[in-house]
This record gives sequence, structure tokens and C-alpha cells, in this order.
Amino acid sequence: MIVRLAREVWETALGRLQVEVTRHNYETWLKDTVGLEYSGDVFTVGAPSAFVAECLEKRMTPIIHKTLKALLQREVTVTYRVVHAGIAAQDDGGLSLRAPAPAAPARERSRPQGNSLNPRYTFASFVVGKSNHFAHAAAVAVAENPGHSYNPLVIHSGVGLGKTHLLHAIAHHVQSKGLQYLYVSAEQFTNDFVSALRESRVEEFREKYRSIDVLLIDDIQFIAGKEHSRETFFHTFNDLHLASKQIVISSDALPRSLPLLEDRFLSRLEGGLRAEILPPDLETRMAILTKKAQQMHIAVPPDVVDFIARKVPRNIREMEGAFNRLLAMAQLTNQPLTLDLAAQAVADLPTVAKRPATANPQEIVSATAAYFGLTPDDLRAKTRKKNIAHARQVAAYLLREDTNRSLAEIGQLLGERGHSTVLRAHDKIAYELNLDAELRKQIGEVRDSMDQRRSQSA
Ligand code: ADP
Ligand code: MG
Repeated sequence: MIVRLAREVWETALGRLQVEVTRHNYETWLKDTVGLEYSGDVFTVGAPSAFVAECLEKRMTPIIHKTLKALLQREVTVTYRVVHAGIAAQDDGGLSLRAPAPAAPARERSRPQGNSLNPRYTFASFVVGKSNHFAHAAAVAVAENPGHSYNPLVIHSGVGLGKTHLLHAIAHHVQSKGLQYLYVSAEQFTNDFVSALRESRVEEFREKYRSIDVLLIDDIQFIAGKEHSRETFFHTFNDLHLASKQIVISSDALPRSLPLLEDRFLSRLEGGLRAEILPPDLETRMAILTKKAQQMHIAVPPDVVDFIARKVPRNIREMEGAFNRLLAMAQLTNQPLTLDLAAQAVADLPTVAKRPATANPQEIVSATAAYFGLTPDDLRAKTRKKNIAHARQVAAYLLREDTNRSLAEIGQLLGERGHSTVLRAHDKIAYELNLDAELRKQIGEVRDSMDQRRSQSA
């Protein structure tokens, strides 16, 4: 239990760290770490090498400490230990720890690097329900018969509903059949391309991408605003498509609403299949939690599962976060998993349901600015000053949650900001809402201030 819990807690912490540290720091130091043990007040993080362990200790301890403390809601001491391959093998819901890569043979090395797969994201661990059975069936068909069933397959949904899980599941499956796959985030695709450009290796870049059987691109919306990468992606896409290689794309917006997917690209996409994942119904949410508990070999009373599933309806990642928090609390305070404890674990989760899409966007901008003691112009200014950036992120969150404006329109409202900037700001706040009571309070108060103004003027 100690080991499993440490893994879960660390996985949640990593999610949060990912939005807090730079991408470079995350990829270099944090990505391959694992939660090893949590007992007493000591949390032990496993690192793939002594070097990484040392750097983590020197550079990252303050933020890791802060994150764990917030997550566990108590003081904690962080230590690091070097661990070697094999830990990942016993997959009971833990995080993958990549083996320190052995020196790759030359041919291997020239393959494009993808993001690593989470061993937990398989078809076997994916719970199928009304909300996702179509996307699941399409993913299975593509995994069994890549390049021949639906090409491309586009999976789209809101945040935290299983897109990445399905993409990884396809990758695991085709890997087991000995096919070459590449799983990349659209962001990484863009970065790869930009460095290929810089180093005059564009031909090589294209050659590499062309040589695989299955290309999985996650979060395509990140490419949308970047013209050069978009163009390259289009060519890569065409090359692969013509060669009947399978392409799978995930997007958290409707393809139509992405500027990337205009005209020629859209017509290509529509030759394939688009599958949407909807927010899961209560039954499916309960099944997901039950499965998770089984994987962890923890007995959770049905009324507790029911309670958590009802409390966090819209985002599976958040629901899992609440569940992990409950398990952490139970272990820390040495209490059984009761309804009472579950109520405490979700006590300060946001309860404000998604509002009807009627809020006035201008009003959101001015109310948010006013709440933080700023002006709407401050929010639109170029500055990245921390307090202003935070207020701007909150505004982006509210605009996306409470209005039906597109990302592009929201970007305009916030001073010509790009589509992916808005999305990232929204997702950052959405994620942190799960962990940060102060933030939940802020969002609630901004919304209240608008309600008040409205009722005064009515
Ligand atoms: P997205 O990529 O759409 O934001 P993820 O694939 O990252 O969402 O899913 C968020 C979390 O929810 C992951 O831990 C994932 O394993 C879990 N999850 C989502 N859908 C399911 C499902 N149908 N069954 C089991 N777990 C799921
Ligand atoms: Mg995802």
C-alpha cells in the first residue's frame, strides 16, 4: 500500500509540476521519476540516475516540496533514490520508470524520438461506457488493422476524458505486433521540426516520420497557431496517408473549430473517422473508480465510490485526483475509507456546475480584472508579470467555461493571444482547481461578483 500510494501521489504531483516548471526542466529532470515510498513524513522519489537525483535535489526540491505539501496537506520531507529498470514492470497502476536507455544501435538512434508510453494506459484498463464506446471501438479497430480501417482516426473530447489513454493503448497494441509506431505530442512534433529547421535537417526529419507504420499525434490543437509546423504536419500527413500508414490524432476541440484544419486538410480528415468522447455517465465513472481500486488491490466501499463519482462528474483526471487524495488521507490518518473521510477529501472541490453559456465575455474580462485589482487593459497587455498572468489565466478559464466563445475569440479578448496559449491557461487553472482551495475561492468570488452586478442592474 505504501508503495502504490506513493506512486499515485507522485503521479498527481507530476501532473501539477508539469504545468509549473518549464517544459525543458520537466522533460530533463522529472519525466522519468517515480514515487517510491511515503511513510512517516518522508516522501521518496525514484530517479533514473545519480545525476538526475542530484540535480533534482539541488534545483527542484523547493517546488517538489511545495507541490507534495499542497497535495498531501501536511509537512513532508523529500528524499531521492536512484532506481533501476524493472520497477516499471510490476505495473499495478504505477508510473512508468523508463530504464536508462542502453546505447542504441545506430539504426535505432536515427528513429524519431517519441514521448514515452504510460504502461497503465492500455485497452485492458480502459472502461467502456456509453460516453466512449464509439471512440473505443474505433481505436481497437485501428489498432488491429492499422492503415486499413479508419484513416485518419481523430479522437476528440474535453480535457481529462481519455484521449491520451486511447492513443497509448493503440500504441501498446501495435507495438506488440512488431509495428513501428511513433507517439508524439503536437508540441513535440513542433519542437522537433523547429530544431530540424535550425540544424538544416528537414529532409532527415521528413524521412524519419515517413518511415513509421503508425503515427499518433496527441493534442493537435497545439499545432494550430504555428504556420510552419502546420505546413510540415500537412506534408507528413500526406506522405503517410498516401502510403496507407495509420494516423491517429487527438484534439480537445472539434476539428472544425481549429484553424489548422481548414480546407484541404479538413477534407482529408473527413475521409477518415472522427470519434468523440463525451463526459462519462455516473455508472461509467463508478466503474472507472472500481477498476482503479482493484488494480491497486484496495477495497473501497461502494457508497464511497458512488460518492466520489457523483462529486467529480466532468473530468476523469480530476475524479482520479480526488480519489487519490482520499486514499492518501486514509493512509495518513490511519482511518478506514468511510463516507465521512470521502466528504473531507472532496470538501473544497469546486461544486459550481458548468454554467449556461450566457455570460457576457466583456463582463468576465472586466470582473476578473477588478477582482485582482487590475484593469482590462492590464489583462490585454504583453506583460508576463506574475499577478497579471494569473489574472489573465483565470479570465481565460472563465471565458472558456462560462461562454461559448471559440479559443480564437477568447485570445482576441485577452489581447491577441494565440489559441494554444488560451487553451494552456484554461487547462492550467482547470487542473489546479483540483488541488488549490485558494484558487477555487477566487473563481467562485469572481463569478459571484458578476452575479451581484447583474442583480443590481436588474
Ligand atoms: P485526455 O487526454 O482526454 O485529457 P487522459 O487520457 O489523460 O485524458 O485521461 C485522464 C485520466 O483518466 C487518465 O488517468 C486515464 O487513464 C483516465 N481515464 C480516462 N478515461 C478512462 C476510461 N474509460 N477508463 C479508465 N480510465 C480512464
Ligand atoms: Mg491528453
